[in-house]
Amino acid sequence: MADANSAGPRWPRVLLKISGEGFVHAGQRGIAMDAVLHIARQTYQAAQHGVQLAIVIGGGNILRGAQFSAGDSSIREATAHYMGMLATVMNGLALQDALESLGCETRLMSAIEMHNVAEPYIRRRAQRHLEKGRVVILAAGTGSPFVTTDTAAAQRALELEAGCLLKATRVDGVFSDDPERNPHAVLYGELSYDDFLRQNLRVMDHEAVTKCRQHSLPIMVFNFRKQGLIEQAVLGRRVGTLIRAGAAG
Ligand code: UDP
Repeated sequence: MADANSAGPRWPRVLLKISGEGFVHAGQRGIAMDAVLHIARQTYQAAQHGVQLAIVIGGGNILRGAQFSAGDSSIREATAHYMGMLATVMNGLALQDALESLGCETRLMSAIEMHNVAEPYIRRRAQRHLEKGRVVILAAGTGSPFVTTDTAAAQRALELEAGCLLKATRVDGVFSDDPERNPHAVLYGELSYDDFLRQNLRVMDHEAVTKCRQHSLPIMVFNFRKQGLIEQAVLGRRVGTLIRAGAAG
């Protein structure tokens, strides 16, 4: 892991997962372009270090399938999950325009084909874009219902051979308990996959962590609201919590 004084980025390519909460103000729903621009500025600054950057975006600021369908028999859960995936496409379009308004070259790729708004996700094409220095925004999750965009992020990080999955979220990292409910919750600096799963910690989807564990892909969980942390995380500096094989916990 690079320290604050080291020159270059730690990994040549990273996968950044940004939760939908990054696209709106705390406690609100929908899309707020000033919040998107805030994320875009930090992301663009990070990309300028020459790290190849793929971004998987969430949709929770608009709709989460499981919540939307819970207790309402008039909508099938699978339908609600597809709606959630479409929400991520809206966020993707917003992030693409925000990044391009700053002069950052991007490509928006969707796991659900919709040629009028995004390229279809094709792994090798995504790799080419990354090699050419474009920021690649990956929308519509995995394209399949019943999973989250955390799982999509793990999947894409593995197939695009990213060095780390960077999970940008609204809390500082992985805590021993929900820090928004328990003021005594302790923030971990480092944690093994097994400890994360055994303690049933919640900040990241367990399916995604299991996938990363299978392939020893490190995960860094950090707070996107703190200025500069996206850039530091992309450079491979230690921010938030690192989940990796053999960590002390
Ligand atoms: N979703 C899905 N398949 C995927 C990714 C996402 O069905 O591969 C749906 C799921 O309903 C999810 C919603 O899209 O709740 C929005 O994504 P997510 O909840 O992961 O967004 P975040 O919490 O990161 O904002």
